[in-house]
Amino acid sequence: MVSVRPSLIGFVLAASSCPSSGCSERQPAVEKTKYSRVISEFEQPLCQGDRSLIDERIERTAERLGLQPEIIEIELYTSPPVPGCSSPFGCYSGGVARTIASSLEHEIVHAIAAPIGANRKLWSEGLAEALSGGFIRRSWRRDSTVSTEWEAKTSGELDYLLAGHLAQWLIASRGMEAFLRAYRGESTEDVYGLPLEALGEEYEREAPWGYSSEGCLEEAVSLVTDEHEETFEIDCATNGVRHLVGLYPGSVASSKNLGIERAGRYELRLEGGLAVQVLRCLDPVVSTEEPDLEGGVYHDADLSPPNPYLFADGAHELELDASVHRFTVYGTDELDEDSVRLILRRLK
Ligand SMILES: [Zn+2]
Repeated sequence: MVSVRPSLIGFVLAASSCPSSGCSERQPAVEKTKYSRVISEFEQPLCQGDRSLIDERIERTAERLGLQPEIIEIELYTSPPVPGCSSPFGCYSGGVARTIASSLEHEIVHAIAAPIGANRKLWSEGLAEALSGGFIRRSWRRDSTVSTEWEAKTSGELDYLLAGHLAQWLIASRGMEAFLRAYRGESTEDVYGLPLEALGEEYEREAPWGYSSEGCLEEAVSLVTDEHEETFEIDCATNGVRHLVGLYPGSVASSKNLGIERAGRYELRLEGGLAVQVLRCLDPVVSTEEPDLEGGVYHDADLSPPNPYLFADGAHELELDASVHRFTVYGTDELDEDSVRLILRRLK
């Protein structure tokens, strides 16, 4: 793949030889967290929530794989394509996780799992998908099966949904230790007592439709009754506040889970901030089929929500189920606000 941009590391080396007055391009920032060294193309430094997201993902992944967390190198790009990678969104190679923000956790899993050595794409990408914290769902593709994906040699050939869902199911039902034996190259017959095709058939038959994202598994901080106000801190230095979340560069965001007590039509307003996203959380394990929810609120398994942002320009009406919802409030440093108020009112 031909890349139009140099890698950030190459750029830092080149930039360091420029005279102080002679370089027009900005030098990427280098930041350290507990377990990472991050070279970032973003103008804004990492927020507290971005730093803890990186360190928690590294710690959690290492713990699940039975490894010690190690310092990893990350190159963070503002938009695809990521240079030096066959996938436009990022890759882990040469000891560096190169990535855009939305693939950061996936590439961190690759970096931590690298010493284990995967013997095929199905396992390495499956593990990265299963441990990166997002919703895991059954693939919609009818032409992909465990047997077809077993043969995938490149990212472009692999069905990532199937790989992640299969890995999650195997780990949840038979444990990480067995999964890592298969990952290293032992046959499915030796590890699971089933030839590949029979394992694939059991997977098709037995695996649940989906598994919740980690964000939705967090406990609800409040129960919303007929009227509710919730304050979201959006100062970058506050715990949990992130900017690697993509409303646009420079925005910051903070998420909370709120429990809705009664289903119905609600009015939603923001005081301050830019916008809010409302995500309907699903059960931790969605057993049978894709949920079909009414009301225009997207849910945890939606991969391309139709219009996820409600902007802070007046009142919005939306239908909410009696269930946990994850609210993400966006603001910006330019507005000079430290917090945003979300107001929900049940309409009679
Ligand atoms: Zn990957």
